[in-house]
Amino acid sequence: MLTQIERIRTKIESGERLTAADGEFLFRSEVDLHAVGELADVVRRRKNGNVAYYNVNAHLNPTNVCVYRCPLCAYSCNADDPRAFVMSMDEMLARGQEARDAGCTELHIVGGVHPEKKYEWYLEIIRQLHRAFPQLHLKAWTAVEIDWFSQLTGRPVESVLEEMQSAGLRSLPGGGAEIFNPEIRRQICPRKADATTWLHVHRTAHRLGLRSNATMLYGHLETTAHRIDHLLQLRQLQDKTGGFQAFVPLSFHPENTRLIPKGTVPFSLQENRDSPQIVHRTSALDDLRTVAVGRLMLDNFDHVKAYWVSLGLGTAQVALAYGADDLDGTVRRERIHHAAGAPSPEALSVEQLQNLIREAGRDPIDRDSLYQQVGVRP
Ligand code: SF4
Repeated sequence: MLTQIERIRTKIESGERLTAADGEFLFRSEVDLHAVGELADVVRRRKNGNVAYYNVNAHLNPTNVCVYRCPLCAYSCNADDPRAFVMSMDEMLARGQEARDAGCTELHIVGGVHPEKKYEWYLEIIRQLHRAFPQLHLKAWTAVEIDWFSQLTGRPVESVLEEMQSAGLRSLPGGGAEIFNPEIRRQICPRKADATTWLHVHRTAHRLGLRSNATMLYGHLETTAHRIDHLLQLRQLQDKTGGFQAFVPLSFHPENTRLIPKGTVPFSLQENRDSPQIVHRTSALDDLRTVAVGRLMLDNFDHVKAYWVSLGLGTAQVALAYGADDLDGTVRRERIHHAAGAPSPEALSVEQLQNLIREAGRDPIDRDSLYQQVGVRP
């Protein structure tokens, strides 16, 4: 008589798709984490052999002013807050220059949705950066931002994406997905684009030939059933479009947000913030299990990222043995996760990324934004 983990192993080995019940079982803490990781590693190896990817990239966050002010967000603020900033076009072009000089192949551009900035400002950012640095792949605007542009202009998502594409946008990042469950969203990000809208933006982008990524923010109020539901919705869309490149699990960091970690002094109350919530913190064990279950459930995704900014360097490196095949990038100038207390460094060098990968027993591949190997660097 096979145990449940043995039955799942048989499915994995024969390439059979896992069910929601399988996924929920794998999330149970009494199920041996190493066994789950081993299964995920079987899938990773089948898809990506012995390589692990990294990318030389930089982040650009044009503004932190955002109309939505999601309780989960440590990054955004109101326009009159002393922390508020809006970058000028010259500053953004200087960032593009800095990225090019550093050998970056990609600029990752996301930020807040500023109540006074018109759609043309966002379009112009893409147009001018692309004109000045055509060799930089512009991976820009989350589905939340694209939906905002659609609201601002009164035009369909498709029309906005087409115009952005003509201006130089080359792919979409995966942010804003958080957790698709509407009840959890109501508490962590009640006003921004809902799950249906997020999926619609990505579906439309894929139809236009744009590739994108998909994130899942975990470790706040959600249950493992919510995580599985999120993964299944991603899998379903990927079945239809094939446009997702990578799944990016993001571990939630509560510092400076309006969600209070369990077992801590309710600092949010002391500071008279509104709508505090009780959340649980993730552990390295939960991080590794989530990476592994993501790898196992998303059988139609080629890549799973261990985003070191969110997971921390040690866990990201270990995650390469739990189903992940990509450490993401050098990530210069990341502000969003660091604002929420991510203890990871500000940036990594190519050498550091290569060492992390080699120490994990993999061969490092310098990739571009579409997972093509970058030639030998000067
Ligand atoms: Fe704005 Fe995004 Fe922060 Fe929400 S998570 S407040 S949409 S920047």
